[in-house]
Amino acid sequence: MRKVLFASSEVHPLIKTGGLADVSASLPIALHKQGHDVRIILPAYRQCLEALTEFHTVATIKLDGYHSPIEIIQSTLPDTDVTLWLVNSPEHFDRNGGAYGPKSGGDWEDNAARFALFSRAIAAVAMNQGQLDWLPEILHCNDWQTGLAPALIADLPNRPATIFTIHNLAYQGLYPRSSFDALDLPKSFWHSEGLEFYDMLSFMKGGLNYSDHITTVSPTYADEICTYEFGYGLEGLLVERAKQGELTGIINGIDLDEWNPETDKALTKNYSAHTIRNKLANKTALQQHFALPLKEDVLVIGLISRLVSQKGIDLSIDAIATLLDADENIQLVCLGSGEASFEQDLRVLRARYPDKVGVTIGYDEHLAHQIEAGSDVFLMPSRFEPCGLNQLYSLRYGTLPIVRNTGGLADSVVDASGDDLKHNLATGFKFEAATAEALEETLLRAIALFRHPRIWRRLILTAMEQNYSWEKSSQSYQELYDSLIVKLAR
Ligand code: ADP
Repeated sequence: MRKVLFASSEVHPLIKTGGLADVSASLPIALHKQGHDVRIILPAYRQCLEALTEFHTVATIKLDGYHSPIEIIQSTLPDTDVTLWLVNSPEHFDRNGGAYGPKSGGDWEDNAARFALFSRAIAAVAMNQGQLDWLPEILHCNDWQTGLAPALIADLPNRPATIFTIHNLAYQGLYPRSSFDALDLPKSFWHSEGLEFYDMLSFMKGGLNYSDHITTVSPTYADEICTYEFGYGLEGLLVERAKQGELTGIINGIDLDEWNPETDKALTKNYSAHTIRNKLANKTALQQHFALPLKEDVLVIGLISRLVSQKGIDLSIDAIATLLDADENIQLVCLGSGEASFEQDLRVLRARYPDKVGVTIGYDEHLAHQIEAGSDVFLMPSRFEPCGLNQLYSLRYGTLPIVRNTGGLADSVVDASGDDLKHNLATGFKFEAATAEALEETLLRAIALFRHPRIWRRLILTAMEQNYSWEKSSQSYQELYDSLIVKLAR
């Protein structure tokens, strides 16, 4: 049994902007089920306290450089016994809006201060300061918002082993030098092997340079971030860590209870690999929801995404528009929010093809489940994708993913072609070039195979047989925890 402090800036179902939240719930739950003592530490955002029914203050900690002490509020992750510690600093987290910015978009102006405070609180709890009487053996930090914590404890005696997981290297927490000064961080951190990144303060570099081990969320992304194309100037550092055996790619698992077509309450009709015919009722309901013609023979293409360039939204819009112009037998159902120009482009597509395209701009978990169940294929042509969860949910729901061959998408989808198709190993469609033409060709391949119900059914069944539970991946984390504890003790 290991004692693990798991630090994250978002945790499903309390606060979520993307896959980080799903993983920050499902991985601790999996570790807890396997007997480990895991405590999650998260900022006490207003919506988290509003969503929790029972909580109480268990510690008050005076952090270096702050006038008011912070509180640690204890609760449990909803519907589980996993302990949750919320860092309460109303000045930083009690506000109307999201985790990183106001509802109207953009970032909170004081994010550097907010997540520096969060990191200092993580460091204090990891060092057992503040009456909690619990010293973890492992501090597991996630993404830049927690990046200063490993740096703050790196030189302290009797500290836990530290691991830093990159969920997306594109978001680094970069701030001007003046922020570094304002945050009153140790001057010894200001160098290129510390927190400095070309005269900027990099929260991400805290995690990358000071943690004992770095992981990222798929083996292919672990290789990709060591290259110029995906490394954002951090590839040199990452290559060095990789050479030392200190960078590992571990593919994310999914919560099999939350994403289960047999029991999912959001569905019109539940189904399994044995009752695959019932998937059709969800397709009809989805068409009804989006006021599209109720047709069985049309290929329904689902898309759920943050609407940002990373996700290849422009490729999707261009390729689908071309296919609709050519009168292909397809429908697109789309749920997402993000950059205003992509939201507008989708609305325009809907206006041009009202009986072929359904669009909901916004965030809607219920509808996300219905799209996973009711679509025939799921579109995810990401330019880069550290792991990606929606393609894993799609596999489980027998909705064949159409993906670019990158990151976790490369690791989790087998293209329906050649020997893999012949030997029933294929689970979806993959393409290389990040162009609308390459996506269009791939969509045409899917449309062609969709006309062969027996082959299509085989693809669905193989997809549904894939096992992306946390069982295997959480085992990899446990082995890593064990080896780090041994290494630190030496
Ligand atoms: P990322 O973390 O880069 O956004 P992932 O595929 O790893 O991408 O995770 C995205 C998660 O967010 C999935 O659980 C997905 O269903 C969910 N999601 C994204 N956009 C929406 C939306 N508009 N409504 C509901 N869920 C969404």
